[in-house]
Amino acid sequence: MLPPFRSAIFFKSVAALEQAPASAAEIAFAGRSNTGKSSAINALTGRRLAQVSKTPGRTRLINYYALGEERFLVDLPGYGYSKVPAAIRAPWEALLGGYLRGRTPLRGLAIVMDVRHPLTMLDRHMLEWFRPTGRPVHVLLTKADKLSREAGRTVLRRVASELAALAGNASVQLFSSLKNTGVDEAAGVFEAWLARSSPGPLEAPGEPEVKTPGKTGGLEIKAPGLKGEISPGQNALRFKAPRSGRRSGRRPKPSDV
Ligand code: GDP
Repeated sequence: MLPPFRSAIFFKSVAALEQAPASAAEIAFAGRSNTGKSSAINALTGRRLAQVSKTPGRTRLINYYALGEERFLVDLPGYGYSKVPAAIRAPWEALLGGYLRGRTPLRGLAIVMDVRHPLTMLDRHMLEWFRPTGRPVHVLLTKADKLSREAGRTVLRRVASELAALAGNASVQLFSSLKNTGVDEAAGVFEAWLARSSPGPLEAPGEPEVKTPGKTGGLEIKAPGLKGEISPGQNALRFKAPRSGRRSGRRPKPSDV
């Protein structure tokens, strides 16, 4: 089967938001380092594009892959490098935070998590940090081939249930770059985001109301409580958080990422 985003080509690396290209719509990929983000982008595009981002000096830049017609997949710097000195981390975090909160063409955020270690503290901070934008999140639980089918589905249900409390509008699926599972399903979500008419400027940080834009497919689970079922052949769950729920706890700062 042909990879869904096979027209993608490396476009540019960006060290400051002002350098970002003119864009009509883009999907960003974030995740802890080593969770399989590069492999997921490569599986979606059928190319070894994301190797580019691993070349020295580019790991802390935002990498743009062009899909044509001013549409892009955007590879964000991996987070969770505890040993990176603060002097290097600060501009990188500013870039990441500025991008996530300020990039108008951003249609949604894919967060890549290792299915064996989902929803780490940093992932939770990322979700909370992104939530006020009102843009959708799609979680790829990568390396699903490392778990049995049943164990994978158990994790999927647990993550879906927890996400309901953490994100305003999110979906989650199992993914394996190694076995090429979940690729079409993920592409379906991202293509729907890209095809949607412009959602307008990002919401101001601190907006109390979380918007839940239209459906992107998959099964829907109404939070709280897990009421959906995974139908045969489905790797995805989708849920919506209640619109009026108050967020608890402090708001994470980009420096937590
Ligand atoms: P990144 O740092 O998040 O970009 O992660 P990479 O894509 O470089 O992957 C990190 C490691 O996980 C590499 O050794 C990959 O071969 C491995 N990996 C990535 N995706 C998968 C997957 O779906 N299944 C398995 N078994 N290994 C994977």
